[in-house]
Amino acid sequence: MRSDPDRLHLSYRVRRGGSEWQDVEETIRIVHVPCRLGGERPYFICPGVVNGIACGRRVAKLHGSGRYFLCRHCYRLAHASQSEGAWDRMLRRANKVRQRLGGDPGMASRFPPKPKGMWRRTYDRLREQAFDAEMRVDEAFSVQAERLLSRIDNRKGKRSFWK
Ligand SMILES: [Zn+2]
Repeated sequence: MRSDPDRLHLSYRVRRGGSEWQDVEETIRIVHVPCRLGGERPYFICPGVVNGIACGRRVAKLHGSGRYFLCRHCYRLAHASQSEGAWDRMLRRANKVRQRLGGDPGMASRFPPKPKGMWRRTYDRLREQAFDAEMRVDEAFSVQAERLLSRIDNRKGKRSFWK
């Protein structure tokens, strides 16, 4: 790790899922933002690129779970699209809730109303769980679509997914 006043240079190796080690060089811009009470605070500019569009968010933290160090938003998107098993589990959980409430499984069907005799609080909690799971799955799928699109863009000589 080296840094200039306005750049952080990272040089490291990653290995994912039993594949070969790979060298990664990443340069992250640093900006200094004046504080309201004087002085200034440094922030990173996220280097993530999703679907050929640079993220560029100003963030105080970068996460290094994947190949690159990225902001929370990019990291979450990249992470979600890598764990299809987790989506399945989430979907199954959401469907279980739907069926327990007397509805049909699947996001396309209407969410069942509160069954008679069930506490409002219980119903709200279950609905919350199902919606949360479905939202995350939805998010993950849209990211994968972006990924595929960015691969197609790549072939036409545009920028790649993360670099
Ligand atoms: Zn980002």
